[in-house]
Amino acid sequence: MSHLFYQGRQRKPMLAQARGVYMWDEGGKRYLDGSSGAMVCNIGHSNENVLEAMRRQMEKATFGYRLHFETEASERLAAKTVEKMPEGLNKVFFVSGGSEAVESAMKLARQHAVATGQGSRWKVISRRPSYHGCTLGALAVTGYAALSEPFAPMMREMPKIPAPRAYLDGRDPDDPATGAHYADMLEDCIAQEGADSVLAFLMEPVGGASTGALVPPTGYMERVAEICDRHGVLLIMDEVMTGAGRTGAFLGGDHWDMTPDIVVLSKGFAAGYAPLGGIVARDDLVAPVLDAGGFAHGFTYAGNPLACAAGHAVLEELDRQDLINNAAEKGAKLKSRLNALMQRHEIIGDVRGNGLLLAFEFMSDRATKAPLPKDWNAHLRFVEIAYENGLIVYSRRTRDGVEGDHILVCPPLTVTDTHLDEIIEMLDLSLRQYTAELPASQGVA
Ligand code: PMP
Repeated sequence: MSHLFYQGRQRKPMLAQARGVYMWDEGGKRYLDGSSGAMVCNIGHSNENVLEAMRRQMEKATFGYRLHFETEASERLAAKTVEKMPEGLNKVFFVSGGSEAVESAMKLARQHAVATGQGSRWKVISRRPSYHGCTLGALAVTGYAALSEPFAPMMREMPKIPAPRAYLDGRDPDDPATGAHYADMLEDCIAQEGADSVLAFLMEPVGGASTGALVPPTGYMERVAEICDRHGVLLIMDEVMTGAGRTGAFLGGDHWDMTPDIVVLSKGFAAGYAPLGGIVARDDLVAPVLDAGGFAHGFTYAGNPLACAAGHAVLEELDRQDLINNAAEKGAKLKSRLNALMQRHEIIGDVRGNGLLLAFEFMSDRATKAPLPKDWNAHLRFVEIAYENGLIVYSRRTRDGVEGDHILVCPPLTVTDTHLDEIIEMLDLSLRQYTAELPASQGVA
């Protein structure tokens, strides 16, 4: 009998070992980690250089409380992180995960407003659907009703605008008018809420779990930045999933040369070797907060030297193995092969994403974009079949307005062409098995 519980009662096989892109359970069965856990293990499992850096740090010290000591590990990681940031983002604050990092970004933004005579600003606008974390503050900016509803009385819900799902709305994602159409929803929302009450706009550059690798339409990002700037609204980029190379650039926002006010990192930052997250902000955002008495916020494990040593070694591996370019190159190949799968499997209605943050979405009719019936639980069943075949993928059924099952295919950035062959073969087999299960009368159009 296990004493553990997570979301539900379902139990999984016991993990025995993980190396590179593969994982083995105790029964000896091998899995290809086609989702890098939850888009975490960007450099693959059990990288010897990272393990060695962690061993060296463990021999020195595994913990040093941030109010008692500086540590070389956190200084080195901060410096290396800043090297990878857009110009001007040079102040780093470490935490232990994505939700903590999102909370920290919002609280830093708020304290900056208070310290600079803008105390009326407190609302953080975000998008629907979106996922920014499970703590009450991060949940308030998460656009995913099923997750937040039970907690509604305990939190102060924040304004949301629709995510730019051009592919569902029948708009051309390459037409700048489409980008403007969705970005202007931010302008309208700011006007409706009252510009001097709006603190920040929070978004993922490429959507992750909630929208399934949603790439913004042409012109959207630039216009969002311009709108934020004009209204004195801070732009917070949640790069928890997109950061550390996942999309084929260090930051997802780099594809559009974005310079947000605050960048939020976690997941690939220490790539699963240790719990780590962080925010990176402009000096002129942090300085007024420090001058006014300091950031009234911090976690016990902040800047944990073991986590920071892991993070530093992970960033070194990204450089040493040129993994960000590999993500761009292998991502482009994998995406075109997913598009080829779509030609063979009617059930796939859309393929999207950047670098190795890729997804496909099931539809019952491509022409009308109709989703599969909700009670089929298609994404869960598909993931189960793929798992039985030895391929781990990640899935969600998007709620909040538009329904649709999407499957994220996001292997470690270390994938080779042979791994891509294996992934496609197992996806193809799983798609054939899944569609064969569907009742003939309810087949897809
Ligand atoms: N932001 C984004 C974009 C995420 O994808 C996630 C996790 N899926 C989080 C925040 C929260 O991170 P964590 O689960 O580490 O708290």
